[in-house]
Amino acid sequence: GTSAARARSAVLEEQIREDPGRFRMLTGDRPTGRLHLGHYFGTLHNRVRLQDLGVETYVIIADYQVLTDRDVADTLTEHVEELVLDYLAIGVDPERSTIFTHSAIPALNQLMLPFLSLVSVAELSRNPTVKDEIAHSRQSAVSGLMFTYPVHQAADILFCKGNLVPVGQDQLPHLEITRTIARRFNDRYGNGGTVFPEPDALLSRAPLLLGTDGTKMSKSRRNAVALAADADETARLLKAAKTDSERHITYDPAGRPEVSSLLLLAALCQNRTPEEVADDIGSAGAAALKKTVTEAVNEYLAPLRARRAEYAQDRAYLHRTLREGNERARAVAETTLAQVRTAMKNHY
Ligand code: ATP
Ligand code: MG
Repeated sequence: GTSAARARSAVLEEQIREDPGRFRMLTGDRPTGRLHLGHYFGTLHNRVRLQDLGVETYVIIADYQVLTDRDVADTLTEHVEELVLDYLAIGVDPERSTIFTHSAIPALNQLMLPFLSLVSVAELSRNPTVKDEIAHSRQSAVSGLMFTYPVHQAADILFCKGNLVPVGQDQLPHLEITRTIARRFNDRYGNGGTVFPEPDALLSRAPLLLGTDGTKMSKSRRNAVALAADADETARLLKAAKTDSERHITYDPAGRPEVSSLLLLAALCQNRTPEEVADDIGSAGAAALKKTVTEAVNEYLAPLRARRAEYAQDRAYLHRTLREGNERARAVAETTLAQVRTAMKNHY
């Protein structure tokens, strides 16, 4: 569960500081729209921090996972470019991090076949995140691709032998499936050794940031503040955020989730604790809270938004970043696939 993952994350943080060279990080996003504050404080900020600490970093744009999403598929190129822009704006450095897409790496996708043979349909059906995503999807029928998303994700992580995955809380069940697949592959084909690591999730201080309606901030729920939004749009969205009728502002995540998530957001932007932010506001009420959060977010994002606008002017650089990332990822994937084929005695 989450508390075990939080405790494990604290241990990992220490190990990363001591020896970043032990870790290889893989994370990514589906190109379904602009990244938002939930992504940022849930995982993106950790990615950049770890990259800067010297952890080898791979960032996947999961474009094959939006094939079923018609309205997105028609404008896929734009969505991919928007995502690369977001990455560059937050400080992902293409010199040190490999940014790539599913569709450019055949050998990665080929790993999915043997991996599919290592999990049962019953195990996939139990995955609560897949259930949730299916419930929120606008489509009536669930495709086999969507159902097997966690197995595809195992291929994403294991193609580079990633052992560290900074994610939000909703991804913990997926990561459990990756760990199972790695373990079973090693048991069955490892010849007493280890082909794949069992990767760890790394949670941030905000593993589940709430959106303006009080449920998980999400691209598909219209409750998100995009990193690329301007200051006015941000103010408008946060002004409409759900709170409660209690005038005195306190940090109480279990009892007052909406107010607490806003306090946490301000705290993350200002490098303080949510309790400190709450104390400053005191009995000034929800309007004062929203004003504080809006100012904190806009101030924090201003340099990032400026960088994003600059990179948006340089399409050639965007394309080069992806081309070079894809080349690097392809070489890594081919090496891993060759190892897999040898381990499986070329039966695959
Ligand atoms: P979609 O609605 O298309 O599923 P999403 O907003 O849920 O989009 P994902 O692409 O599913 O975003 O998630 C990308 C990464 O961001 C994952 O690691 C996920 O855990 C993390 N993440 C997304 N939303 C939040 C959130 N509200 N709080 C913390 N982490 C989040
Ligand atoms: Mg999601």
